[in-house]
Amino acid sequence: MECMSREDMRKLQSERLIKTVKRCYENVPFYRRKMDEAGVSPDDIKSIDDICKLPFTTKQDLRDEYPFGLEAVPHSEVRRIHASSGTTGKPVVDTYTENDLKMWAEGVARVMAVADVGPGDTVQVSYGYGLFTGGLGAHDGAAMRGAIQLPTSAGNTEKQIMLMQDFRTNVLCCTPSYAMHLAESIANSRNVSVRLMKLRAGFFGAEPWTNGMRKELETKLQIKAYDIYGLTEMCGPGVGGECECQDGTHLWEDMFYPEIVNPETLEPVAPGEFGELVFTSLCKEAMPILRYRTRDLTRLNYEPCKCGRTAVRMDRILGRSDDMMIIRGVNVFPSQIETVLTEFPAFQPYYFITVDRINNEDTFDLDVELKPEFFASDPADQMKYIKPLFDRIVSLIGIKPNIHIKPPFGIERSTGKAKHVSDKRVFKN
Ligand code: ADP
Ligand code: ZN
Repeated sequence: MECMSREDMRKLQSERLIKTVKRCYENVPFYRRKMDEAGVSPDDIKSIDDICKLPFTTKQDLRDEYPFGLEAVPHSEVRRIHASSGTTGKPVVDTYTENDLKMWAEGVARVMAVADVGPGDTVQVSYGYGLFTGGLGAHDGAAMRGAIQLPTSAGNTEKQIMLMQDFRTNVLCCTPSYAMHLAESIANSRNVSVRLMKLRAGFFGAEPWTNGMRKELETKLQIKAYDIYGLTEMCGPGVGGECECQDGTHLWEDMFYPEIVNPETLEPVAPGEFGELVFTSLCKEAMPILRYRTRDLTRLNYEPCKCGRTAVRMDRILGRSDDMMIIRGVNVFPSQIETVLTEFPAFQPYYFITVDRINNEDTFDLDVELKPEFFASDPADQMKYIKPLFDRIVSLIGIKPNIHIKPPFGIERSTGKAKHVSDKRVFKN
């Protein structure tokens, strides 16, 4: 599937799209209504090229149809239910048939295959278990590879690192921010050492991260660190993952058809341009989904990869359109700050942004941390670090931050998806 010729892939995608559209139209009143309104019937979909005739689906649609309005099978065929955190309002629900669970596990297993994860390997799953798809998703993927599953879930960091050493964990799965926290805890622990560990690979995702962060994690944990991407609406993690070339995240196009559209006009962007990622599920049974607007911003590269896979590659996710801050008229993504911080050896990759509006002016405060060996409690000593960081942010992003150096551990560590921003302006409108 990953190495298929483009032509064969289009054929397979066409067959699967036709089936999916029929399934949606015949079983889900919501899709029937939307397609009728758009004046498109299942018969109009003859190949994957016709996908642009279909209406989009948004997160709001999923909320409106909460909990099971989008199900295309009798509820008795459902074997599991997951839901994304949904920080505001109702969570977004996904339900799975037996086949859906298999397909999901395969998506994750394909990602793990790049590091030859298999029998005898211990895969420590430090994503949260529960409604969140991270824990059980990575778990089932490791199971499909025949590996040993170690379901530690997130948190309880001291114990995690003890087990990591004692149980000889080879593969770590968690968010990149938690991986960083684990790495730091190992470095600070007297009882464990990364040299005594058997770690070989890490599969990190569920939030944006940068190549700078990758370098830090690879050095600190002595592993190869791979990106794994996914979202609850498609199943969870394992919609795609990085290969050994670490040059873009391959998407499993036989299961999820990706498009990039301009988020304002909703027209497809020119090949290779940035825009909003849109997915249509091609295999899902319980909750198939048509042209779902992920709000993730990235671009696609259809050049064959050196690894031999033909599956399209996605750039690192810049962020979600709803994470983008407009500060003094300039678009800022939190991941840009991480990129800058990891360019400076003295700084930790941790940061927290506070945006406010004072006297009708946006303020942009950035809390950062120096690595303990660079930290001096005398503020005068810190200026030499602040100035270059300030200059780099101004040149890259174009706005001037108020930089505050926090003492070691002054910025909260995260065991799941890190929270990087507090935008106080939202309460002032
Ligand atoms: P939510 O975070 O909305 O509660 P999910 O757990 O389903 O729900 O998160 C999916 C989202 O997480 C994706 O749409 C994307 O924004 C982000 N994400 C997942 N994996 C990655 C990754 N490897 N890189 C960047 N962002 C990611
Ligand atoms: Zn590749």
